[in-house]
Amino acid sequence: MNKRDGVKRRTGDLKLIQELNRSIILDTIRQYGPISRSEIAKRNKLSPTTVTSAVGELIRDALVCEVGVGESNGGRKPILVQFSPDSRFLIGISLSGSKLTIAQMNLEARVRKKETHPLKLQQGESVLRFLLDTIERFLAQVGSLDNCVGISIVTQGIVDAATGVIRYNPKLRLRDAPVKEMVEQRFQLKTWVDNDTNAYLLAEKTLGQFRHYQNMLYVTIGDGLGASLLMDGAIYRGYKGGAGEFGHTTIDRAGMRCDCGNIGCLENYVSWPAIYSKLLSALAKGKASSIMELVEGDISRINAKIFRLALTEKDALAISILEETASYLAAGMVNLIHLFNPEVIILGGEIAFENELLIEKVREYVSEYAHGILTEELELRPNSLGEDVEVVGAAAILLQNTFQFSLSL
Ligand SMILES: [Zn+2]
Repeated sequence: MNKRDGVKRRTGDLKLIQELNRSIILDTIRQYGPISRSEIAKRNKLSPTTVTSAVGELIRDALVCEVGVGESNGGRKPILVQFSPDSRFLIGISLSGSKLTIAQMNLEARVRKKETHPLKLQQGESVLRFLLDTIERFLAQVGSLDNCVGISIVTQGIVDAATGVIRYNPKLRLRDAPVKEMVEQRFQLKTWVDNDTNAYLLAEKTLGQFRHYQNMLYVTIGDGLGASLLMDGAIYRGYKGGAGEFGHTTIDRAGMRCDCGNIGCLENYVSWPAIYSKLLSALAKGKASSIMELVEGDISRINAKIFRLALTEKDALAISILEETASYLAAGMVNLIHLFNPEVIILGGEIAFENELLIEKVREYVSEYAHGILTEELELRPNSLGEDVEVVGAAAILLQNTFQFSLSL
């Protein structure tokens, strides 16, 4: 059966079939609305009665509204319906190694309200307490939760998305933390927990500019380095949800000790902390750089944004550190390309954000070192969802699970 066809089988649970059809119809309205009921029926090969009754329910639930009339095909002009993304809202949270971002968003993942809180060396239990307290304060400002569909949390490391347990996050020193259960118990709102890079990939696939790709990789370069894989249209998670731990692939057996206990992990060469420590040691040796002017001599103000700004100002120190970072990243990506043969690799995270030079350098190295046959049509592109991608990723997980928004168009 075609994935986009409605479900018509008589066998099985009738209620389940109705729910599936309702999801398919809602998804069709979301993607193609304003649209008439007969067009929805035609697109999904469903009966007009099934569509009329499901659309009636969606209108009652305020998820869909009527918005005027369309062109007639000879008969009566059809009434058009469209998705009402502001009828509900959701809470999206991103927990990285250095900050917690929390946002209220509508059902198209548009941010209505967003806050960022730095993590001040919190680790283990204290991170979880901080997470719960921040949610509580944020929800108090939001007001009524009657229209809240739920909370979605994304974080680095290995996450069991089915149970909502953070299995292993070496940066935050979390091991088998039952985050979904904790959040649901405290706030009585349905909660999802997933790996951040998986979430960004899903967001690009469902809400961004990468909807038509079936084989792609998302590489995120920020506090850490992660990757997510879309293989034949589905996210590949591995046996325990640990697939894509790109940052902990080994690049140098004689290299630096990593937070995870191993030696020479790629993340220690390609991440903001790696760049930051190179910058500091060069500045300490008296290397000239426009960065010192950008932060007015205060090194505590150096962040990824300042680094990117120095690149646009063609600062020689920033460029040399970027080139070194890009060469390590490209070496890792050559491995990924040979293992997975993607059509496109999306680069995201605060180091890749609005950083054309990084993408250009990686493209150069990759086309030089990977098999030509694997790179001739390979696209390397920046993320299409901008700075909000962290919370939009969280929203994509919730929307996918709640409304079964389709992965393939
Ligand atoms: Zn490691």
